[in-house]
Amino acid sequence: MAILDCAIIGGGPAGLTAGLYTTRGGLENVVMYEKGMPGGQITNSSEIENYPGVTGDITGLDLMQPWPEQCQKFGLKHEMVEVTRVSKDGDIFKIHRADGNVDEAHSVIIGTGSRPRRAGFKGEDEFFGKGVSTCATCDGFFYKGKDVVVVGGGDTALEEALYLAKICNKVYLVHRRDSFRSAPNTIERVKNTDNIELVLNSTPDEVYGDAMGVTGVKVKDNDGNIRDIEVPGIFTFVGYDVNNKPLIQEDESFLCDVNDQGEVIVNLSMKTSCDGLWATGDIRIQAPKQVISAAGDGAVAALQVISYVDEKLS
Ligand code: FAD
Ligand code: NAP
Repeated sequence: MAILDCAIIGGGPAGLTAGLYTTRGGLENVVMYEKGMPGGQITNSSEIENYPGVTGDITGLDLMQPWPEQCQKFGLKHEMVEVTRVSKDGDIFKIHRADGNVDEAHSVIIGTGSRPRRAGFKGEDEFFGKGVSTCATCDGFFYKGKDVVVVGGGDTALEEALYLAKICNKVYLVHRRDSFRSAPNTIERVKNTDNIELVLNSTPDEVYGDAMGVTGVKVKDNDGNIRDIEVPGIFTFVGYDVNNKPLIQEDESFLCDVNDQGEVIVNLSMKTSCDGLWATGDIRIQAPKQVISAAGDGAVAALQVISYVDEKLS
């Protein structure tokens, strides 16, 4: 393969927008590496209320569906493969792929986003996929008419609790404090939903079950009292960790500067400390963690990359 003008790692809102702007802006040899279906983590969301211009009941999947097709129209290529590492040899980047191949690129835009964090209670790993879930859109239907526990107090937990309340008989929303870090209107909606019970100042202590899966959750409050909630399903939404693994080098150092949470340090142009490397979306420092801002980052980085590659190759 010829040296790419730009390698885009990740096909969420950030990567897809970077793909649109780089190709439409004149770069001819751009590949987006996405290990799964393009669209990113928003495709797990059951309801989008805050993407400008979008009204009505649409899901994250609905929102993202046309994005890859729009990029392909301008020549973006999609390789469905995981990138295990990005390294730099002189001024050329090496894109190490999970299939063993190594591609080369003049510039890189990384937008690998983040992944759900584990809450850390007993039984969480043992019952993951057997009653413990991090995706209400994917698994909510299995609990139609049944009771479930949702853990967390952020936007994701509250929005997904509302979604599950429409499918399930009852939702116990377990949160470790007595106030939420979600949007005020979402908190209001949760409080006004009859079949959501708030279990505050509490965390799951243990999830238990049998060979068929989860049968209940023991929840401990801040005074140490245990409450046994018999449910077949528990959904945890306790935040996300950034997917920075492709930036880790053989000697365990990072290709560019990151903060103590592993988020990539960028300037206002999404430029990292490594020349030719831009970071966009949820992976970067101070990311608002929104589809609109991830897409904005992708556009900002792409415009920089076009000038960078033009200058480098002229
Ligand atoms: P992501 O969307 O995480 O995309 C990263 C992509 O990179 C993924 O497709 C992943 O498969 C791929 N990838 C990762 N590592 C590799 C690798 N090594 N090689 C190849 N590919 C890789 N935001 C809103 O604005 N409104 C909402 O209503 C909203 N609701 C949300 C609901 C939920 C349940 C969640 C989880 C998030 C929600 N968000 C919402 C936040 C929003 O989804 C994110 O801010 C946004 O998706 C970030 O985009 P991104 O492109 O940075 O990363
Ligand atoms: P988040 O805002 O980080 O919230 C995580 C929640 O989980 C917090 O309430 C936290 O409690 C709790 N928590 C963390 N670790 C825990 C543990 N080990 N055990 C029990 N509880 C634990 O994560 P998020 O809700 O997934 O949101 C991530 C980002 O995406 C945010 O910036 C959010 O605004 C954005 N987002 C936006 C939308 C939207 O715009 N509609 C929708 C979804 C997500 P504390 O509160 O005590 O810390």
